[in-house]
Amino acid sequence: MKDYPDNPYFKLFKKQQEKQLNIGQTSYTYRIGLLKKLQLAVEKTYRSQIIDALHKDLGKPKVETELTEIYQIISEIKFAKRHLHRWMRKQKVKTPLSMLGASSYYIYEPKGVCLIISPWNFPFNLTFGPLVSAIAAGCSAIIKPSEMTPNASALMKDIVNDIFSEDDVALVEGEVETSTQLLELPFNHIFFTGSPNVGKIVMTAAARSLSSVTLELGGKSPTIIDRSADIDKAAKRIVWGKFINAGQICVSPDYILIDETLKAQFIEVCKKWISHFYTEQAQNSDAYGRIVTQKHFDRLKSHIENAKSLEANVDIGGNFEKASKFIEPTIMSSLKPEATLLNEEIFGPILPIVTYNTLDEAIDYINSKERPLALYIYSKSRTNVKKVMQHTRAGGTCINSNVIHYANHNLPFGGVNNSGIGKSHGFYGFKAFSNQRAVVKQYTFGINEWLFPPYTNYKEKLAR
Ligand code: NAD
Repeated sequence: MKDYPDNPYFKLFKKQQEKQLNIGQTSYTYRIGLLKKLQLAVEKTYRSQIIDALHKDLGKPKVETELTEIYQIISEIKFAKRHLHRWMRKQKVKTPLSMLGASSYYIYEPKGVCLIISPWNFPFNLTFGPLVSAIAAGCSAIIKPSEMTPNASALMKDIVNDIFSEDDVALVEGEVETSTQLLELPFNHIFFTGSPNVGKIVMTAAARSLSSVTLELGGKSPTIIDRSADIDKAAKRIVWGKFINAGQICVSPDYILIDETLKAQFIEVCKKWISHFYTEQAQNSDAYGRIVTQKHFDRLKSHIENAKSLEANVDIGGNFEKASKFIEPTIMSSLKPEATLLNEEIFGPILPIVTYNTLDEAIDYINSKERPLALYIYSKSRTNVKKVMQHTRAGGTCINSNVIHYANHNLPFGGVNNSGIGKSHGFYGFKAFSNQRAVVKQYTFGINEWLFPPYTNYKEKLAR
């Protein structure tokens, strides 16, 4: 293998690679042992520190951390523990008659040394989640978490150092330069979660070594509400899915596409549910989070200002406070097509409403943009749901709900094109970190040998 003498992470990479090559493949018991260590750390040893770190970094309410970080990691580990034996089994397949005398199967073998680069919005879940899959697949991993959530990253480093040997799992803290240096190395797989723009940088770097990639990206996830929808239920679920983690979720509804006749009613019920969840003063609510950094706060504030300058309505909220990086749950409508809110991923607690007159208009609007990570449909009409499903493409969809498809480990999770490449969670995560190795075992007799050279009388041979 090529040497990278100037790369500060090459020694670590090589150490992991040597272990992978020496061991060949870690056993089921070894993998389960590592998963149990991670489970104990997250569930018990470091639980309260995780809650504290996320409160410092994101003002994350304790219950939200329990539900969206700790529970998600634990359930991913439990799911892998329950199914790993079956996933690791040799998979027999049929062998065609023309190969009489042979049998065929494939195995899932570990890809090898993997890189996991994660974002800041659910720092523990989006780092340890893919790590569960890497461990289940028998890979080693170097992790690079986000620099935006320093308390979470420092704690993850402590956890990793405490429970893993660095030739199995290591964590490297740092900013873009660190990622860039890591991306120089010939990883066997790169699992990246972040923005589409950085996803392109990662994929370009991966191309140098032809490393395989899983790219879990973002984008604008549309939410359609049609005339048949239960508006109160839709509003309740959307307000939850949009404002949890202060809107900093890759699968939150980015914007609403609603039948023109329902707009006023929808805004009214959203108002009711926002007050119900976060009181009239979200700033004082212990259920409402904060924006991760001043830079992101300024970005979101300028979205609101841009829309206002283009004469959009602020239907709900619109207030902010720089010092505490607070942005009120905000709903805006009557936006001009050029408003930044309708053209960039929002990733914050601002929900723009776009109206339509016919469902075709809504579908055309979605298809005029990049393929989303998630697309949600609120409707009681089977015909309308079928039409939307057939005429759009998205990484995932919830019908009469949002966000929750993320939490079902039986489903593949991921985007499509601009919102991602490859899938994760449960078996799909295990598969992402595994190489499907095809094996044909030939026995003493092989009918195909009749067709070996010299090619005399081959027509007669074939006819037999
Ligand atoms: P980001 O792309 O800015 O950063 C993600 C990671 O990449 C961080 O660790 C960062 O240090 C690193 N990075 C940043 N710039 C880099 C560069 N030039 N070269 C190499 N590495 C670089 O994303 P973010 O702001 O942390 O997260 C928000 C984005 O992530 C949103 O687009 C969101 O939709 C997406 N996201 C997707 C999922 C998913 O599961 N699909 C989950 C969460 C977030």
